[in-house]
Amino acid sequence: MLDIKIERTKAPKALPDKDDPLLFGKIFTDHMFVMDYKLGEGWYDPRIIPYQPLSLEPSAMVFHYGQEMFEGLKAYKARDGRILLFRPDMNAKRTNRTCERLCMPEIPEEDFVQAIKELVGIDKTWIPTKEGTSLYIRPFIIATSPFLGVRASHTYKFIIILSPVGAYYPEGLNPVKIWIEDEYVRAVKGGIGEAKAGGNYVASLRAQVKANEEGYSQVLWLDGIYRKYIEEVGAMNIFFKIGGRVVTPMLNGSILPGVTRDSVIKLCKDWGIEVEERIISIDEVYEAYKNGILEEVFGTGTAAVISPVGHLRWKDEVMQVNDGGIGDLSQKLYDKLTGIQLGEVTDVHNWTIEVE
Ligand SMILES: *Cc1c(COP(=O)(O)O)cnc(C)c1O
Repeated sequence: MLDIKIERTKAPKALPDKDDPLLFGKIFTDHMFVMDYKLGEGWYDPRIIPYQPLSLEPSAMVFHYGQEMFEGLKAYKARDGRILLFRPDMNAKRTNRTCERLCMPEIPEEDFVQAIKELVGIDKTWIPTKEGTSLYIRPFIIATSPFLGVRASHTYKFIIILSPVGAYYPEGLNPVKIWIEDEYVRAVKGGIGEAKAGGNYVASLRAQVKANEEGYSQVLWLDGIYRKYIEEVGAMNIFFKIGGRVVTPMLNGSILPGVTRDSVIKLCKDWGIEVEERIISIDEVYEAYKNGILEEVFGTGTAAVISPVGHLRWKDEVMQVNDGGIGDLSQKLYDKLTGIQLGEVTDVHNWTIEVE
């Protein structure tokens, strides 16, 4: 149990207007959680303080060697007034797997969840209530030792900030256009692809820019060796429905193990649909498309929950999926997941946790 010191802001900011579209990740709440780490001492001084700039040495290792990790989850205001978190224990576990990979200190799972709960409780008036909105929670850890030289840092900061967000895609649950990237790669097995690290994102920018220029919103990555097997989308895992079967790439060491991915697999199982977690090549997807059995494609991730894919561009071919519309399974999964997150349907798996 952390003994969190609380310093409330003396200058609360104005809450966003009811009709503010709450573009993703632009507005931040009044407070933030901070905790420091020193080698030999462990984590110390957990505190909630007014949201403010950080003061770091220019030599802080995070600026030079990228030792940084982050997480992402959401808090929702249920219609009955309860505040719900969705599977925060999964983010705590993934944090520690990422930290292990990046040689960063782990955080006890219960401390991670406690810090989130207390911070969300303090800034609860910031949780928006309009359909599709939520409070996005961004925990992250940075290496702060003032040192130039490649090794693990001896000091770190664990910080949590909060951002009220509207729907990830302003158009709502609308099919996206995806660019299948066959030149650049995101990660290879043995690298840091399965860690939630900023470094994976800087590696992805060049292809993202290319896709955007061509009118596509996100990139679908192929494997780093053969450029043949499907990995995942920018910040989402990917699922295909082919001839009645649901398939998703297995966790192979280079893709991110998404909490939404795991939840989708479990919901499908509840409904008697077995999800095949296996290797799937772009050729298999293309062949299914040619044979008219590529029924649905959708991405899964905290930000968008379920993101139907309407178009897939591969080399010079554009595959239109489901006439560019939203598939039945995509819609059903979206409704069920958001229903659970908002406390509106029975949560048989006990995925939501209430913030007191
Ligand atoms: C965060 C993330 C996801 C989705 O994970 P969720 O836990 O479902 O939000 C997928 N891919 C990448 C690369 C990510 O960073």
